[in-house]
Amino acid sequence: MQQHDNAFLAPLFLGLNGENGPLLERLLVDFLRDHVYWRRNFHPTDPPAVTVPDRITPEFSEAVARLEQELNVLSANLKKSIPVFSPRYVGHMCSDLLLPGLLAQLVTTLYNPNNVHKDAAPVTQQLELEAGTQLARMLGMATDTGTHPCAWGHLTSGGTVANYEALYHLRAARSFALALAGAGRPVARSLDVDGTPLEELPPWALYNLPLAKVLDLHDAWQTLLAGHSPGEAAALHAAVRDASLEQLGTAAFQQRHGLATPVVFAPITAHYSWAKSMQLLGLGERQLRLVPTDAHMRMDAAALAELAAAAAREQQPVLATVGVLGSTEFGTIDPIRALVELRDELQQQGLCMPVHVDAAWGGYLASMFRERDGSACPHDAMRETFRYFPSQAVYDAFTHLASADSVTVDPHKLGYVPYGSGALVVRDRRIIRFVRQRPAYLDDTTARPTASDDADPPLGECILEGSKPGAAAAAVWITHRMLPLDREHFGRLLRNTVQAGEYLYDRLQQTAEALAGRCRVVVPVEPDTNLLCIALNPAGNRSLAATNAFTRRVLSHLRLDAGQPIQTREFIGTHTSILRSRTPDAAAQRLCEALDVDAESFTDTPLDEDRDADHIFLLRHTLMNPWLFHGWDDANYMDRYCDHLQRLIIDALDTRA
Ligand SMILES: *Cc1c(COP(=O)(O)O)cnc(C)c1O
Repeated sequence: MQQHDNAFLAPLFLGLNGENGPLLERLLVDFLRDHVYWRRNFHPTDPPAVTVPDRITPEFSEAVARLEQELNVLSANLKKSIPVFSPRYVGHMCSDLLLPGLLAQLVTTLYNPNNVHKDAAPVTQQLELEAGTQLARMLGMATDTGTHPCAWGHLTSGGTVANYEALYHLRAARSFALALAGAGRPVARSLDVDGTPLEELPPWALYNLPLAKVLDLHDAWQTLLAGHSPGEAAALHAAVRDASLEQLGTAAFQQRHGLATPVVFAPITAHYSWAKSMQLLGLGERQLRLVPTDAHMRMDAAALAELAAAAAREQQPVLATVGVLGSTEFGTIDPIRALVELRDELQQQGLCMPVHVDAAWGGYLASMFRERDGSACPHDAMRETFRYFPSQAVYDAFTHLASADSVTVDPHKLGYVPYGSGALVVRDRRIIRFVRQRPAYLDDTTARPTASDDADPPLGECILEGSKPGAAAAAVWITHRMLPLDREHFGRLLRNTVQAGEYLYDRLQQTAEALAGRCRVVVPVEPDTNLLCIALNPAGNRSLAATNAFTRRVLSHLRLDAGQPIQTREFIGTHTSILRSRTPDAAAQRLCEALDVDAESFTDTPLDEDRDADHIFLLRHTLMNPWLFHGWDDANYMDRYCDHLQRLIIDALDTRA
């Protein structure tokens, strides 16, 4: 067994058996008391609301008894929860929590700050923005206000909302030049792009201005307003607002400018939040154009280039291209480098296609690529710590994140903090101005737009959500303090998970050999990160429908059964599928060969009615638990898992026979 140094993890988690329970208890009690003293010291002579006589009434005792009773019921029911803390849980994207974040979240909740507004969160809103800056730095973006562009980030309730928000900002920014042009001559004549007044530019050109030019245009617009009297400025502002997409709605706005509804490109592996975003923004799910993947389940950059070239030819507006950094089902990494290079190339041809990276899952893995001083870790140095990771493609993707226009990262996934914490990071902080409801300088004639406006904006006006927990911000912030987002700290934790993926990948070869002649055990998608899927096929079987039925039978022993205690499961996993309708022919052929099934049996139009052959059913493993390398003298949890899986397969083969 590979020896692993787990000692650095010891103070960071509660422990498999709650070994750090006393530590958690001590700190929790300490800071609970601290909170109580804080209350007491606010106005100590205020009369107590809960008096001692109150506390000895029968009603009081009865209420306390009921509370305890209800908590008992709740706590008992919670025992049916998924044991995500255990390395025996290798299913979905959840695991144990880092203690610092957990403590910060619990302690901060006592103060209940609301991060929607600085007045309601004088401490934690700042922590949210600092956490955003820390994430931007991890991605390699410049965060020094003296640099340009300067990145900005903030927290959301999760990746879904961060994804919506990215499109929300892009939509507002992309339509801004058209709104200025549509606001009437005083505006359209006074503002220009490289010397050409807006009124002389056709709608297609205005829609396709490079993002940086749109942001510069906003600066010019603010300067223009500042040159007018408050009354005139308000009138100009109203004219632009009335011509904006936000006021008119997408349909009316696009029609007014003779432009088709914008499309968004995303890989077929994109998370379903993208379909929801398209519905929500009124663009329609049909405008989400799914780009095929290659055999590695990464977006096919050549296919994207063709689609984008067609869009440029047909004057089809493209709102954005989404690259996925760690697909939800396979953990695969899209070619971010190719995406940003294509974006730059297309801009030369007059098509603006901003790149958003959905790194809800893989975002924190970027910490492994970052040195303490902020520079990128050389590829060779990284290769020394892994067997396979990172491939050239994966390395290129991570080292080009800084060129993306915006990125979604989920602290509540590989950041190991409690739900709900997602984050949106933008490369140029000016992009959040466009959705602002009403700039302060219009209400306050002494206020002038300044750079600090962008650094410290009225959060509630620039984001999708309203009230939001400051406790979540405290959790993310303290986590980044304890484990800075570089390869020696946070990256060290995540290195463990990628190594676990590599270990399991190699170890499965032994399982495959042990079962040779009886059952195929295949890893159908080369793991890019710490997610690994397994496909099975009993020897002699050539039909995919039968293969899938077999794998389902094996999985039934790896999933929790509501009727049985969780202790009856040795390991807990989950599943996913590769859909025929989303698999290129060559890849489908290759998968069938690897599984030794007839390629014709993998079909969208199954001959048998059960429709069990339009997909390949897979066991899916998320290897994020920090203790996967922990174990017994002769075996760690992954060895044990492989042995268990082997037994389940043999049992399933026997019952089949
Ligand atoms: C998890 C995930 C999301 C959604 O994030 P939530 O935090 O669950 O809202 C989006 N995209 C990808 C790639 C994800 O893995």
